[in-house]
Amino acid sequence: MGQDIEQKSGQKIECDHPLYHLKRKVWNSHVDRYPAVIFECQRVQDVLEAVHYANEHGLKVSVRGGGFHPAGKTVKDNAVLIDVSQMNEIQVDEISKLAIVGAGAITAEVDRITQEYGLAVPLSMNSQIGISGLALGGGIGHLRGKYGLTSDNVVGVHLVTGEGQLLYVNKFEHQELFWAIRGAGANFGVVTKFEFQLHPVGQYILGIDVVYDYKDCKQILEKAERYRQHAVEDISFNIIITKMNQNFPCVRLVGMYVGELNIKSEQEIIQPLLELATPLADNTEITLYGDMQCKFDSYIQEGITFEGISLFFNELHPDVIQLLMDEVNESELLVVIHLIEMHGKVNQISHQETAFYIRDASYLLVIEAEISSDPSKTQTWFDNLYKKLLPYSYNQISYLNSTQDNEEVTRNAYRAIADKLVALKKEYDPNNLFCSEHNLID
Ligand SMILES: Cc1cc2nc3c(=O)[nH]c(=O)nc-3n(C[C@H](O)[C@H](O)[C@H](O)COP(=O)(O)OP(=O)(O)OC[C@H]3O[C@@H](n4cnc5c(N)ncnc54)[C@H](O)[C@@H]3O)c2cc1C
Repeated sequence: MGQDIEQKSGQKIECDHPLYHLKRKVWNSHVDRYPAVIFECQRVQDVLEAVHYANEHGLKVSVRGGGFHPAGKTVKDNAVLIDVSQMNEIQVDEISKLAIVGAGAITAEVDRITQEYGLAVPLSMNSQIGISGLALGGGIGHLRGKYGLTSDNVVGVHLVTGEGQLLYVNKFEHQELFWAIRGAGANFGVVTKFEFQLHPVGQYILGIDVVYDYKDCKQILEKAERYRQHAVEDISFNIIITKMNQNFPCVRLVGMYVGELNIKSEQEIIQPLLELATPLADNTEITLYGDMQCKFDSYIQEGITFEGISLFFNELHPDVIQLLMDEVNESELLVVIHLIEMHGKVNQISHQETAFYIRDASYLLVIEAEISSDPSKTQTWFDNLYKKLLPYSYNQISYLNSTQDNEEVTRNAYRAIADKLVALKKEYDPNNLFCSEHNLID
């Protein structure tokens, strides 16, 4: 079994408390918000008390898991901030292949404990990300081809509603809410605990990491698309186009293969992917699953100020490829473009099964840039780029976990399921206590 479960009680942190400014900070240091009070919770009872406090004082609520949402939605001005980050106990039931995970756990903590049993939950590609925001909004990781999204592997949650009720939500109890929390989950209450399906993923996997010359970018993207169309479920890959390195653009292929390794799989599955162009460097190697999960951690820097957009695509139109290359060439900003391919299990789950209903997209495009000395210039660059990409995108839908926040982006993302979500919101959070995420009702 996992860690010991502590039963300390939490603390209430008001604005004159020495920890107040530390505790209101989120990953994106551009976000600077002032909650009315912070409840640092250790137990479900602390969460219930925090919700009670919010109701009594007529305040809204925001919830902090790992604090990594790029738009900093975890903190809201003048609201009660319910911080569950210390509720991070993890237990593994090896027989039923279930992990019971406290809402404050991060990807690295869950990976470390589940890997002791040769098991894994599909989590993020960055080891520091909180599992809460990740699972409630989707969760796209290296295991997506074989086992789907993080949210696809949620089998139950314990959730405190805005009216202070503790519910157990799964496919039998509060079925409709169970649908909603897997994709639009930050709108309905405070999740205190997740139950995840575990899968056999041995300690060693093949970590794919190849650097190509930027001049081959077009060819790489075209060949990658042909590969994706017939890719096996055991593999997943991302293409990263970046100018982070002193204005010297390069293309990097990062992926994971969790299938059997033998001469046939090397020749037929691995090698064709490594040969999208002539590599400048090839660091592909058999490595620990846990180490591979940290591969993108270098992108996390303390005090980063950051903007970002995301859009799904069902094809990589040549105009989109050209547009992205032009932007990388011309922009003065330090830009990182992630093309996250989607195939296999992540696309096989039906549209109706969860509130993450985008199931036939081929790519998620995430574009990030460090905010320049002139933030309005960065914002304008993103606004223009978003407008240019929108007509090519998959129904104009963004991944709400990886994007800046505005009304248009939210409306587009929820358009097809808005009526159902609003009906559930009225049932489970009629006073709209949880409105820090992507607001559904006024
Ligand atoms: C550097 C970086 C790398 C990333 N890598 C990936 C990746 O590989 N794959 C991927 O899919 N995404 C990735 N993301 C996006 C990530 O999924 C989101 O940032 C996600 O929201 C993070 O979860 P969190 O708990 O850390 O966030 P938080 O900011 O704490 O929470 C995000 C939202 O969920 C709500 N929330 C948090 N906890 C709870 C709870 N217990 N109950 C109810 N609501 C809650 C918050 O109020 C907020 O609205 C990355 C983001 C960054 C910044």
